[in-house]
Amino acid sequence: AENLDIESIRADFPILHQRVHGKPLVYLDNAASSQKPRQVIDAMREVDERYYANVHRGGHQLSNESTSLYEESREAARRFLGAGSTREVIFTYGTTSSINTVAHAWGPANLQSGDEILVSEMEHHSNLVPWQQVAQRTGAKIKALPVTDDGQLAMDQLPGLLTERTKMVAISAASNVLGTINPVEEIVRQAHGVGALVSVDAAQAAPHKSLDVVQWDADFVALSAHKMVGPSGLGILYGKQALLEAMPPFLGGGSMINTVTIEEFTPAMLPAKFEAGTPPITAAIAFKSAIEYLEKVGLENILAHEQMLAEHAHQLMADIPGLRILGPEPRQKAGIVSFTVDGVSPNDIGMMIDAAGVAIRAGHHCAMPLHARYGISSSARASFYLYNTREEVETFVTALRKVLTMLT
Ligand code: PMP
Repeated sequence: AENLDIESIRADFPILHQRVHGKPLVYLDNAASSQKPRQVIDAMREVDERYYANVHRGGHQLSNESTSLYEESREAARRFLGAGSTREVIFTYGTTSSINTVAHAWGPANLQSGDEILVSEMEHHSNLVPWQQVAQRTGAKIKALPVTDDGQLAMDQLPGLLTERTKMVAISAASNVLGTINPVEEIVRQAHGVGALVSVDAAQAAPHKSLDVVQWDADFVALSAHKMVGPSGLGILYGKQALLEAMPPFLGGGSMINTVTIEEFTPAMLPAKFEAGTPPITAAIAFKSAIEYLEKVGLENILAHEQMLAEHAHQLMADIPGLRILGPEPRQKAGIVSFTVDGVSPNDIGMMIDAAGVAIRAGHHCAMPLHARYGISSSARASFYLYNTREEVETFVTALRKVLTMLT
């Protein structure tokens, strides 16, 4: 059953209506970045044509207007996250910069030699490397929660991995390769039980799930606007107020200070303390339109639609010889279908299917440890979003079959 008005949704996304290599574009690389609706593109243009000025450097009319739009957008993000206060909602440059802020600001101030950071085998490199950097600096040790053969976190091993030495659990709410939607609330409950904090990478969850950071009881949450029909160069870091207040600032510079002398500074109040320098003003303001767009369509409807497309893809791909889909069944994941085909290079699949107008991604998808876990070095990935259709899934699988005949 179709619960989205796909026709009118597609009409909102100008970029989809074009040909590549003479074929109608079938855009299935949404886990890397989604496309923007007219509403977001218009919002960006409107800001730049009418309101643009630097924010929080007040005094004149335009600066006051852009500042109040910037703060309205922060309020929309607060609502989307389910956070209690806008002081807990920090604009960053993306998930990567959000996680680096937590790792490099919270980490050295709270970690000692012998402490443990628990990650999982399915993490994106941006939820691994910052923690590795902090571990190198502090002498903390990294442990990993394994992933099962069918692409779930091995939750039965979590109690054994959490010890009184565990200070941070860094985990994704959804995997960018497997699509798996992880039981964040349960992980937080167990982590808090041993006194550890939890930092959630919600880059792949936010595009199709209303978040409720209070329900999760998560300590930090990171997301990127560009994966949820918003602009690139913008992310959010949510953090519990008491934790953000206790942490030293990460980047130093303009806007994040209260007073500065030649020798020293005192930090500004939240959230300015973590927003050094001129932020991505246009992107931040337009993010409100992206949130409103997703909320209008309805996040539950979006997830259901993606799962329906993933189910269709799984069925159509089932009899392709040597093809293996990574991860769980469609109803247990976001609309991501990563796969390998025996004896065929995923890169060759990606390149050749592009000639048929189908945009997928091939490679390690910034998750080398996860691929190593499955004994492979790369995979091909089709990822669906609210504007994709059943017909596009069929075009993709037909093109895939053709490519495989040529490659095998
Ligand atoms: N974590 C996950 C799960 C992701 O999918 C991505 C984006 N591929 C990131 C983190 C990094 O996000 P960004 O590149 O927007 O900083």
